[in-house]
Amino acid sequence: MARYGMVIDLKKCVGCDACTVACKSEWDVADGHGRTWVKHTGIEGIFPDLISTQYVGQCNHCDTPTCIPACPTGATYQRDDGIVVVDRDLCIGCGYCVDACPYGARYIHPEFKVADKCDFCVDRLQEGLQPVCVETCTSGAKVFGDLEDRQSQVFDLVYRQGARRLQTKDVAIGPNVYYLGSDKHIDLVLEKFKPHEPRLKPPAKMFKTWLRHLVGLGIAATFLGQAGAFFFQLFKGENEFEE
Ligand code: SF4
Ligand code: SF4
Repeated sequence: MARYGMVIDLKKCVGCDACTVACKSEWDVADGHGRTWVKHTGIEGIFPDLISTQYVGQCNHCDTPTCIPACPTGATYQRDDGIVVVDRDLCIGCGYCVDACPYGARYIHPEFKVADKCDFCVDRLQEGLQPVCVETCTSGAKVFGDLEDRQSQVFDLVYRQGARRLQTKDVAIGPNVYYLGSDKHIDLVLEKFKPHEPRLKPPAKMFKTWLRHLVGLGIAATFLGQAGAFFFQLFKGENEFEE
């Protein structure tokens, strides 16, 4: 069984955003959101030792994804090949997974009211195509493939050439998007775009909404029960009177 992953070569990336634009148009990504993104670090250091790079990010299809236990309906799940997907029919748009992802890789689609994120273009993979961002990358900075296949380019880049995961000692959930480049550049990306600790507690707002629904249901049930008892007594009383 394949286990899919991606390598992004920061030395090759020119920050043109072709991948982001291709992804947006292929998957109807909502305005102001992205399944993939290019964020610039800005220039750091002291002249003449200046560095800058960009964070080309997306869902990492992690080994132990924190978005999955956060999902109350099972809409978010991991396939046997490692790809983390969202079943839109099961998603209730609660946003728990959005808070639980340390990489900010998810958002709630404002039109469809469901969680959305990169799924490595599973529909394209089924047709034997590459993810659209890989196909569109102008400089060949993105490589996608099977991390279990020793002959694959991603295997070579990860296990022989030492592509790195963007993780810290506090947040180490096994992201399967890897980065090639100098340690200085990858460290800069980590410093500027550090993965946050997963926020696994349901937001207070959700509790309040559920509580409101529960109280509403309780009141409705009480009212219906009393109305039922009243009509029952009325009906019974009429029968007894007739007898
Ligand atoms: Fe889940 Fe975020 Fe990891 Fe993607 S990057 S699998 S959304 S935890
Ligand atoms: Fe699951 Fe996220 Fe949808 Fe909530 S918004 S049901 S956590 S996939």
